[in-house]
Parts: sequence; structure tokens; C-alpha cells
Amino acid sequence: MNTRDVRSGWITNVIRWVDSYAAHDEDMTSTRFNWVRVIPFILLHLACLGVFYTGVSPAAVIVCLASYWLRLFAITAFYHRYFSHRAYKTNRFWQFMFALLGNMAAQRGPLWWAAHHRAHHQHSDTDQDLHSPVKRGFWWSHVGWFTCDASFRTQLNRIKDFARFPELRWLDRYDIFAPFLLIVLLFAGGELLAAYQPELNTNGLQLVVWGFIISTVLLFHSTVTINSLGHIWGNKRFRTKDESRNNAFLALLTLGEGWHNNHHRFAVSARQGFYWWQIDITWMVLKVMSWLGIVHSLNPVPARILAEGRQDINPLSGQSAAEDKA
Ligand SMILES: [Zn+2]
Ligand SMILES: [Zn+2]
Repeated sequence: MNTRDVRSGWITNVIRWVDSYAAHDEDMTSTRFNWVRVIPFILLHLACLGVFYTGVSPAAVIVCLASYWLRLFAITAFYHRYFSHRAYKTNRFWQFMFALLGNMAAQRGPLWWAAHHRAHHQHSDTDQDLHSPVKRGFWWSHVGWFTCDASFRTQLNRIKDFARFPELRWLDRYDIFAPFLLIVLLFAGGELLAAYQPELNTNGLQLVVWGFIISTVLLFHSTVTINSLGHIWGNKRFRTKDESRNNAFLALLTLGEGWHNNHHRFAVSARQGFYWWQIDITWMVLKVMSWLGIVHSLNPVPARILAEGRQDINPLSGQSAAEDKA
């Protein structure tokens, strides 16, 4: 590779920070670490140190937690259950709002996220699964897989059903827009509070550090634990072909996504906690949203799947786990 090629690759990577559909002629199947595209991710982590400059206030911590829970819900309910699995229906306005809110989590655009996730379900824990901890280890499944060119592109052929909406393609292409909008809103809100409620001891920069930077880092690591720990740690109620696990702790941490073995057994359900004792907060909120008319047609878990999990029947042999062991 000559110097000009190296430079053009470097510039293309920087352009992709803003325009993720930027034209290029590079090999996009490489699983080698691409350090230029990872710079924003590293800076985000380092920027947490900004807290030593801005300090903390009760208002900042409340904003941090609200931003965390709201965007975590947007990832689980919208990016995952709606865009990846079509587990319920909504109208075009709410669909756009769901995409915008999910995009504020800074986990790239809705089409990119959902297309990758569909590939994960198709190839779970095989060589084609880009973030399998079973195949490539914990750290790769947690923070490695998106640092290479192989994961960069939005696989539009996997998400044709949503890619036909121009507003979603726009968000997906300029996937930095929504996080940037959130930063602007937090800064403006913090400055307004500093001017009109000075007793709260906060300001724009402090709310950006807590409400975006720290909150986004926490949110990122919670989300990817489902890729990593969700395929290693917990029990398997269902005999799926992959190593997905159910884990009550992860389910509480991620608003219900920790029932990941259930989810791999029947992915199109709006509910991932299949039984009453499997707390699934995302499902509960979706239910309330359906009463309000925001979403509808939530896919249920079929009775035969519930029975299969209850009795721990092996769907392949038709025998229970105890019989299989005997
Ligand atoms: Zn999985
Ligand atoms: Zn899924």
C-alpha cells in the first residue's frame, strides 16, 4: 500500500464519523482493528474524566439516570424488539421517534443496528456470527467486533422492510445527528437551569458530561453485555442451537433483555420474560404504550412455547431434560 492509499483510507474513516454511507473502495470484510474509526469511542470513555472539571450535583445525577434508562428502553423496545424483530406495530410518526430516540444512544443508526442483530440471530454462535463470545472470546464479543471494517456497513439487504423509509435511511446515514442533538439539548437545558434555577448548582457542560458522556458509556456496556455475557452466563431453559442464556441479573440491568435464551427460542415476541416471575420491564412499558394507543399488535408467546419451557421439553427429541440425562 502506498502513502496515498494510506491517507485516503484515513480520510475516508474520518468522513465516516459523520457520513456512514460515504463511498469507498476498501475491503470491508477485514476483522482487523481500525483505530481511526474507534477514536470517537475512546474519546467518549476518556471524556468521563471531564467530571473532575464540571463537578457533580443532584440534578446532574438525576439527568444521567433518566438519560440512561430512557435510551436503554429505546434500544431494547425500539432498536431491538421493533426494528430488529417487528415484535409489534406502530405508525410512521412514532416509528421515526423510536428511531431518533434509539439513535441518541450513540449505538449507530437503526438500520445498521437491526440488520446486524438479524444476522446475529441467523448465525448465532457460528463462525458467521460477528459477536459470538463462544467463537471469539468475551472481549471480542463485548468491545472488539465493531472496531473492524467487517462490521461497519449497514447491511441494507437484511433490513429492506425499514430501509424503504427515507427518513430512517437519513438517520442511519448521518448517525451522529441524533447524539449531537441530545448534546445540544442537554447543554441548552443546563444553561437555562444555571440562569433560572442557580440553586441547583448545575450548568450546560455538567449536564453534557453526566447526561450524555457518562450515561452513554454505562448504556453501551449494559447493552453489549447481552452480546457477551448473555451467551455465557446463566441457564438454558430452552434447547436452542446457540449458547444463549437466561440471567435474572442481566434482565434487571437491561430492562428485560437478560431473558436471552427465551428470546433466541422465540425472537418475534414483544415479551422476553415469558413467565410472570421473569421480570421484563420493557414489556410492561410496551403494554402501557399499547393502552395509550402508541403501539399495537404486540406479538404474544405461543402457548406451545410456554409449555415447552415450563416442562423443559426438548423440542428435538420430545423428551424432558431429565429423560435426556437418564
Ligand atoms: Zn444472542
Ligand atoms: Zn434479538
